[in-house]
Amino acid sequence: SKKSGRGVVRVFDESMDESIRFRRQIEGGLSKAIANGELRLVFQPIVAREKLEIVAFEALLRWKSPEYGNISPAMFIPIAEESNLIHELGDWVIDEALEMLQQWPGQYVSVNFSPRQFRRQNFVGHVVERVQRAGIEPHRVQIEITETAIFDNAERAADTLYRLRQMGFRIALDDFGTGYSSLYNIRKFALDCLKIDRSFIDGMGKERESAAIVHSIIHLGRALGLEVVAEGVETEAHLQALRLAGCSHYQGYYLARPLEADVATEVAHERYMA
Ligand code: C2E
Ligand code: CA
Ligand code: CA
Ligand code: CA
Repeated sequence: SKKSGRGVVRVFDESMDESIRFRRQIEGGLSKAIANGELRLVFQPIVAREKLEIVAFEALLRWKSPEYGNISPAMFIPIAEESNLIHELGDWVIDEALEMLQQWPGQYVSVNFSPRQFRRQNFVGHVVERVQRAGIEPHRVQIEITETAIFDNAERAADTLYRLRQMGFRIALDDFGTGYSSLYNIRKFALDCLKIDRSFIDGMGKERESAAIVHSIIHLGRALGLEVVAEGVETEAHLQALRLAGCSHYQGYYLARPLEADVATEVAHERYMA
């Protein structure tokens, strides 16, 4: 009836208001977070087959807000991504990540870029400038993007990736397998690395389909000369299955959680996961 129909609309409106208000609060807090020193990076080891050598660290952003406490990047990155705030955050992340490289013996750093950053005017020039200013070799920097970043303008994305790669940067396709046209993407774009989405690793021991997909991605990656990183390696069983399948690189809680900067530097000098 009309009455209940209205009721539903009202409830919907109110919850909309609330979620918009909440987003505004997050946005406001985030815009002050850099200046207030509320952000930091943590670093999760990426480990190579056989000897479990630490070849890289993925930089992951953390925000401790005075109002809300620790907030997940999965929550605040999408909000930052709706405005130019993402550029300010992203620049802070790159600069911090580059600084770490000076303290590590040889590992590279893998940095996440959101679609809006990647599509920024003169993205390549922007990244190159920061890397040069820091005195870092581009080959020690891996740029992680997801398939959404290259989806809506494939030609422009292909050009951007090509130029980054010519400058010497490494390119990783993150959350591989969850995108809309994964196979098209690896044919079309200059890549170094595929990161198998952790939902497939998680499903490996549970259903045949996930295990088959993981095997296929590993074979495909090898055939194309790409590095393949399995994300979300949480158990010894995952590691064994991935080793058997010929996967070259692993990342996940079973090997190491994301580490505070000083701990990451210590571990970087040890070079192997215990
Ligand atoms: P992602 O790029 O897929 O990063 C991997 C996420 O999986 C991280 O979550 C990491 O802590 C988590 N993880 C690692 N190993 C395991 C495991 O064994 N099991 C499980 N369950 N999770 C594992 P985190 O740090 O919360 O980041 C979430 C997402 O936020 C990232 O997903 C990325 O999309 C985004 N993000 C984080 N830092 C940045 C950043 O600096 N810039 C941008 N643009 N996005 C970022
Ligand atoms: Ca990532
Ligand atoms: Ca990922
Ligand atoms: Ca993800």
